[in-house]
Amino acid sequence: MDLQLRRTKIIATLGPATDAPGMLQRILEEGVDVVRLNLSHGMPEDHQRRADEVRAAAAALGREVAILADLQGPKIRIAKFAAAPVLLEPGAPFALECDANAAPGDVAHIGVSYLNLYKDVKVDDTLLLDDGLIALKVDAIDGTTIRTTVQIGGVLSDRKGINRLGGGLSLTALAEKDKNDIRLAAKLGVDFLAVSFAKSAADMDESRQLLRAAGGNAALIAKIERAEAIAALAEIIDASDAVMVARGDLGVEIGDAELPGIQKKIIRETLARNKVVITATQMMQSMVESPIPTRAEVLDVANAVLDGTDAVMLSQETAAGKHPDKAVAAMRRVCLGAERQFEPIEDLSPGTHQLDRTDQAIALAAMFMAGQTGTRAIVALTESGGTAQSLSRYRSSVPIYALSRRPAARRRMMLYRDVTPVDFDPHGVDPAHAAKAAIQHLYNMQRLSEGDRVILTHGDHTGQHGGTNTLKLLRVGPGGVAEGLGEL
Ligand code: PGA
Ligand code: MN
Repeated sequence: MDLQLRRTKIIATLGPATDAPGMLQRILEEGVDVVRLNLSHGMPEDHQRRADEVRAAAAALGREVAILADLQGPKIRIAKFAAAPVLLEPGAPFALECDANAAPGDVAHIGVSYLNLYKDVKVDDTLLLDDGLIALKVDAIDGTTIRTTVQIGGVLSDRKGINRLGGGLSLTALAEKDKNDIRLAAKLGVDFLAVSFAKSAADMDESRQLLRAAGGNAALIAKIERAEAIAALAEIIDASDAVMVARGDLGVEIGDAELPGIQKKIIRETLARNKVVITATQMMQSMVESPIPTRAEVLDVANAVLDGTDAVMLSQETAAGKHPDKAVAAMRRVCLGAERQFEPIEDLSPGTHQLDRTDQAIALAAMFMAGQTGTRAIVALTESGGTAQSLSRYRSSVPIYALSRRPAARRRMMLYRDVTPVDFDPHGVDPAHAAKAAIQHLYNMQRLSEGDRVILTHGDHTGQHGGTNTLKLLRVGPGGVAEGLGEL
């Protein structure tokens, strides 16, 4: 089993199920690249303990594992019932009370966490509870009470989420809890911070400022899960380092039938804007209980890979499921299978890709050249990982080895499709020698073999940020010594 040959990255959410003895190590061995701490659940001490355990397990395995902290965001929730759960019958009246002093709920009413909800909804709106399992039709706004009729009934328990079909709730992205959690994320030193329910570039800017002010260096991920975020997609992508197709809440807001098209659009636009994209939620949901995925789940994961996603994510399946390790193994297997089917269809004609920096132009040229010359691998000498990100925005069948001396850069690259980060320090060595040393290093690691053609990118000064301006075509000679090619 060669984990490194898989191109699509796997994110797994930690929780009680991965706290079982030995389970964290097992899921890492099965191929998890990034772990997610879900800040909607658990105490700061739990997240600190898990982050420590991940770092220890990664060190023991001798590989990088990145950590993603996911903010709860302004998720609107119902309050608690006097005796949960309750059964809501279709056609029955049910009231939502926007009142901090509402009595504990019962089958006729419940309080809500967002006290202005009554101002944001109108008669005839549909409110969806528990990710759409229960639907309420709004009949009247009576003071601060929203009177509804149950359209789709079911069992409802404490603190389930509420969404409005069509979106449009006026909450800002960061609640008080999120501001505290941003400081926690900085303290934990996580590699990625996900902002839930982002609806504008300003939401991302605010999160970034708070994170930096708290001393955090994490990359920012915008979770696309509100209807409004679709309208502001380009500006949100530009204000973020990565985006997540957060299909759980998004599907509730825009309706499930819109999801397949929107997923493809978000992936396409994110890649075109040189950013990174994650596909998330219910990918292998049945594996919360079952040791094998359904055929539909297999197709869903595979289709996300074929759409071009950088990473696929497991939520409940690993955090609270019965078979976290099997879920990761299934995901790995399905990604590998889909990658064998994948036929890159990049349009490399002029004007199709946004080029803002030299390394992006070098990346475009490298990918074009790789396709024409039967290149075995692309090797990037990269300080921050920026060149590896640019290279990996083109979906190809060529692996990218990204050589960096910086652990934080290597961890960030764990999210980039096609990229294998490698610890390598060319600092202070002149670029020609660094290039040879890099090829030799990968040959010694058995990543390259004699006769392989390799494209190598670097800057004029090794060990410097953002300077990639050079592209070389080389052949691996006897003993891993790089040599130039005359005739192809
Ligand atoms: P969540 O976000 O798991 O934090 O709700 C993902 C989603 O909504 O899909
Ligand atoms: Mn969500």
